[in-house]
Amino acid sequence: MEGIHYWIEKRAQLAPNKLALIGENDRVTYKQMSENINVIAQCLQERLLLKKGDRLGLLLPNGIEYVMILFAAAKIGSIIVPLNTRLTATELAFQMNDSQTTAFIIGKEFEDLGKNILDRTKITSVMLLDAGVKSLQELVQTTQREEASLPEVDGSLPFIICYTSGTTGRPKGAVLTQENMFWNALNNQLSLDITSNDVTLTLLPLFHIGGIGLFSLPVLFMGGTVVIPSKFDTSRVLKLIEQYRITLIMGVPTIYDSIRKDPNFNHTDLTSVRWFYSGGAPCPLELISFFTDKGLPFGQGFGMTETSPTVFLQTKDNYLESKGSIGKAAMFTEIRVVDHLDRDVAPDEVGELWVKGPNVFKKYWNLPKETAASFKDGWFLTGDLVKKDQDGFVYIAGRKKEMIISGGENIYPLEIEQAIAKLKQVQETAVIGVPDDRWGEIPIAIIALHEGSTLTKKEIQEYCRQYLAKYKVPKDVYFVNALPKNATGKIDKALIKKQYTRSWHHD
Ligand code: ATP
Ligand code: MG
Repeated sequence: MEGIHYWIEKRAQLAPNKLALIGENDRVTYKQMSENINVIAQCLQERLLLKKGDRLGLLLPNGIEYVMILFAAAKIGSIIVPLNTRLTATELAFQMNDSQTTAFIIGKEFEDLGKNILDRTKITSVMLLDAGVKSLQELVQTTQREEASLPEVDGSLPFIICYTSGTTGRPKGAVLTQENMFWNALNNQLSLDITSNDVTLTLLPLFHIGGIGLFSLPVLFMGGTVVIPSKFDTSRVLKLIEQYRITLIMGVPTIYDSIRKDPNFNHTDLTSVRWFYSGGAPCPLELISFFTDKGLPFGQGFGMTETSPTVFLQTKDNYLESKGSIGKAAMFTEIRVVDHLDRDVAPDEVGELWVKGPNVFKKYWNLPKETAASFKDGWFLTGDLVKKDQDGFVYIAGRKKEMIISGGENIYPLEIEQAIAKLKQVQETAVIGVPDDRWGEIPIAIIALHEGSTLTKKEIQEYCRQYLAKYKVPKDVYFVNALPKNATGKIDKALIKKQYTRSWHHD
């Protein structure tokens, strides 16, 4: 199969003047994008001495140059290691050393962090980049270029080593190929009917597979336009939606929660948007209904770094009848829901989600044991618990690692969190298990209330008792101002568990 640079080259022939990328101050057509990719590719070879299979670290803000560098690296078969700009130098140096990265592009605004990372690695090929295409062009112009030839590449080559969010432990580098990107693009296209008329707004970070795969690459694959602001800012988002008549948006629940609270939300023309999608973490039903009650199409998807990322997407035919679910698996991706003896569970029963398909990664970088433990008979064992209803719609039940076993009963924290979230005073909540001599483990809740709201432990427990079996009612409740989040913006359950297991023992 062709490498992904082919998509852009072909579009440059078919529709040279169509806008491909729109950034803060720059925009490029498909023809310009294709030309830029060529020169950047040469620049990567000559300035950063990159060859096929070498790794290139990127420490850049979101922007259109990020996307062009991704395609340029793919064109010479180099592998991108995108760095999460919210991690520390030590954590990032680990990823650079772990992936044996030999070259590094650092955005000017991350210069200090970049230098701290470099101090902890042996990398000598470094490029410093201002935001914007201009700076890329200047860089390219100052490159002493001979007409170097570019290597042969194809879709089977690794494209990216993408580190997982580290919600359940140290981030693992999933190796994703160019073909994985193709199948993700096709899966999304088939579920959402993406066409060249689509204009997507990329709000998720490009250092995460979410920003790349939802929906930047699928929209470029189809010849549409991708708008990429450098930072997330709610009032800016609303302006961009109106200005560019955005049609597709992907976000995590916290993004949508802040957008709806923006004072301009009700005065913004959102009629161009044919999909608001949420994924990455459980989306409160109330948040979904807030959008759908206004007639705004709001659906859920489910993805993982390891699956490039889409596995599930609700579609326009079913998102209202299956509200709160993650829909059904995408066209070229198969799933199973499996019990502890590897048998398929009956409808409405909770089991582990297994995934198979051409969008699934083949290995974690440098982690043969973890890789082997993640696969069985060609299926990827996700570690997520789900249930499938009679109609085939799939609902998230939580992560296997977070399941609480209390007196022999399985407790899924998400079920308790969803019950508590129905209280209108509650902003966010995390339920975790803490050790208990009698029951093995018991659930406790950590809750952040909306500003100015009040609720007591007793009120929470009484409320839970109405909806949940007694053993699921949190045995204790702690109130905090906000829950800690990890670098991807997900609630950091591991940290909460550490903190509260300790204080629980001290009580
Ligand atoms: P790590 O693998 O390092 O512990 P992580 O699993 O959070 O971190 P990602 O690959 O970014 O890393 O996230 C994938 C996970 O996000 C899924 O396995 C699932 O637990 C969760 N997730 C994704 N979409 C949804 C969704 N719509 N609802 C609930 N959870 C979701
Ligand atoms: Mg994971």
